[in-house]
Amino acid sequence: MGDTLLQEAAQRIKNCVRETDTVARLGGDEFTVILSGALSSYDVDLITQKILHALARPFQLGNDLSYLSASIGITLYPDDTTSLKTLLKNADQAMYAAKAAGRNRSQYFTSSMQDAMQNKTILVKGLHEAIKKQQFEVYYQPIIQIKTGHIDKAEALIRWQHPQKGLISPAEFIPLAEETGLINDIGDWVFMQAAQQAKSWRETYNPNFQISVNKSPVQFNHGSNNAHHAWCAYLEKLNLPGQGIVIEITESVLMKSDDWIQDNLLLFRDAGIQVALDDFGTGYSSLAYLKKFDIDYIKIDQSFVLHLKSGSDDLTLCKAIIVMAHTLGIKVIAEGVETQSQLELLQSIDCDYAQGYLFSRPIPTNEFEQLLLANLDKPLTGN
Ligand code: C2E
Ligand code: CA
Ligand code: CA
Repeated sequence: MGDTLLQEAAQRIKNCVRETDTVARLGGDEFTVILSGALSSYDVDLITQKILHALARPFQLGNDLSYLSASIGITLYPDDTTSLKTLLKNADQAMYAAKAAGRNRSQYFTSSMQDAMQNKTILVKGLHEAIKKQQFEVYYQPIIQIKTGHIDKAEALIRWQHPQKGLISPAEFIPLAEETGLINDIGDWVFMQAAQQAKSWRETYNPNFQISVNKSPVQFNHGSNNAHHAWCAYLEKLNLPGQGIVIEITESVLMKSDDWIQDNLLLFRDAGIQVALDDFGTGYSSLAYLKKFDIDYIKIDQSFVLHLKSGSDDLTLCKAIIVMAHTLGIKVIAEGVETQSQLELLQSIDCDYAQGYLFSRPIPTNEFEQLLLANLDKPLTGN
């Protein structure tokens, strides 16, 4: 049936263009059409409309009628580029934009797509060398026990000092690192930095101090690494008990509902490493996951904390999350705490920990040490 569909689709596309044009199937369900000669944009639009209509008509497959939609990306020679390779890339890029815009439509390649593509290429190239060139730095943000005002933990957050572009946010480069698989090396590096730091701060400041490390879902892919064993081995080498580290994962990791994931989380557990569920409430939060996987902390996403007011729905929601978590023996960390009143509300509903700009932004190691020292004398209340 698939072959019949492809043949019929190819025939319909061919019927929309001239004898002198080229229609080719380069792979999968993607066709390339070359409209040769000087065409006005009016002509191009006419032809793309014709193709979209032709493919929107139902396909007879055996006894069934099948409906499908096309997405068309358009690039112009020589306006956009004179390189054949780039032409194909441009068309692809534009096609994805058409798809993302809702399918059954066409989209011209634009210079902003070009800029985005170039920017991406530069960043990916840079990412490959960033570890070696020591452009990464780990910042730390304090996590405060609300009852005592003590800094009990910190979250390790990576920063990239790009030689030309300056400081680049992880929100921008982590997705690229995930796409290219570089996240494995970067994640290992962050983990090692954090482990060394946890060891040092446990010795000089608080023997129970913990540092949490973000772990991308990609780092849980099969075969992508044996890092979990390597991580545990590294802790042994450092002589740092697993309790010094918390791994932050997102709900999407648990949703894979894969024995392999569970085995890996168990591996951490056996090593004494705790697990926090990050951005809680933004995904498909499910009680079943919390029960199945041994989760130690829930981090309430900052979007719920942002609008906390007495009597608000968000407050009711946070309260319900906290009651549920406590019943399951899970501690709760509120993220993105920016105001004193948010802190007081969280305290009133028995939240365990708070993290946010109210106390401190993520800061470099030496600044964090100042904060730790000051905290020994004077616990943080946010004021
Ligand atoms: P996240 O894990 O949810 O980290 C919390 C983010 O919220 C951080 O952004 C932090 O700076 C920010 N934040 C903290 N307090 C406040 C506040 O009071 N108000 C507001 N508006 N924001 C606050 P950051 O450092 O830019 O990191 C962004 C994301 O990048 C992180 O979100 C995490 O998903 C990812 N990321 C950062 N470092 C790593 C890493 O080493 N590995 C991986 N896999 N991901 C990382
Ligand atoms: Ca996090
Ligand atoms: Ca978060």
